[in-house]
Amino acid sequence: LVNRKFHPEDTIVDVNGIKIGGKKLTMIAGPCSVEGKDQILRIAKEVKKCGADMLRGGAYKPRTSPYAFQGLGTQGILDLCQARKETGLPIVSELMATEHLQEFVENVDIIQIGARNMQNFDLLKAVGKTKKPILLKRGLANTINEWIMAAEYIMSEGNPNVIFCERGIRTFETMTRNTLDLAVIPIIKSKTHLPIIIDPSHAAGNWKLIESLSLASIAAGADGLIIEVHDNPECAWSDGDQSLKPEKYASLIQKGKKIAQVI
Ligand code: PEP
Ligand code: MN
Repeated sequence: LVNRKFHPEDTIVDVNGIKIGGKKLTMIAGPCSVEGKDQILRIAKEVKKCGADMLRGGAYKPRTSPYAFQGLGTQGILDLCQARKETGLPIVSELMATEHLQEFVENVDIIQIGARNMQNFDLLKAVGKTKKPILLKRGLANTINEWIMAAEYIMSEGNPNVIFCERGIRTFETMTRNTLDLAVIPIIKSKTHLPIIIDPSHAAGNWKLIESLSLASIAAGADGLIIEVHDNPECAWSDGDQSLKPEKYASLIQKGKKIAQVI
């Protein structure tokens, strides 16, 4: 179902009227974690002003340490809904367990499957039974074929709305949090008909690298970018080191649009 051979045309995923895939570049931005209503409303308005098409924010967080902030849960989802109401931006958030599926189906516009759950087959089958757009992140150490088969799990249950998201993979390199694999863009485009967006934030782990990786991703043919933006990164509850301030995000969008025009 994912294979380009049996579906030669590009699939365009419709998210409340915003299209992912085709010619347009879709820009998704927001904090790693929802930290409260004021914070998400403030950042939602900022990223909208910069030109973002959608808002991201984690409410259920897959943290390495069980003692790290785990997310606001249901309250975080409600805060995101309020931000959507005030800005009109569709919302993207990570689903970690099938027990919260109904909450996500009712409230979010794109369900994110995180890198750590790329091969959580029960979760993939469960989201496959819905018609919600699914942002399927590549696992930390998964091959492209494994990633494609994870998408196949979702589609085989009846959900055609899958968007790939490359977020960097584990390599021997320690100067970056992960290694952004840019080759996946042309490879996914040739092997599949689904859109692919890039998450340079989790690849880099460092805000200073985000602009270069973003522009390179656009030049390589990505359908969009999902970027962590925070108005006070030094005090962010998670992933502050890789979060861009809104001013930096605004200038990245301007540069990115110019590249998108010429490719
Ligand atoms: C995130 O988007 O905040 C996140 C945890 O991403 P990943 O699953 O790619 O690590
Ligand atoms: Mn994050």
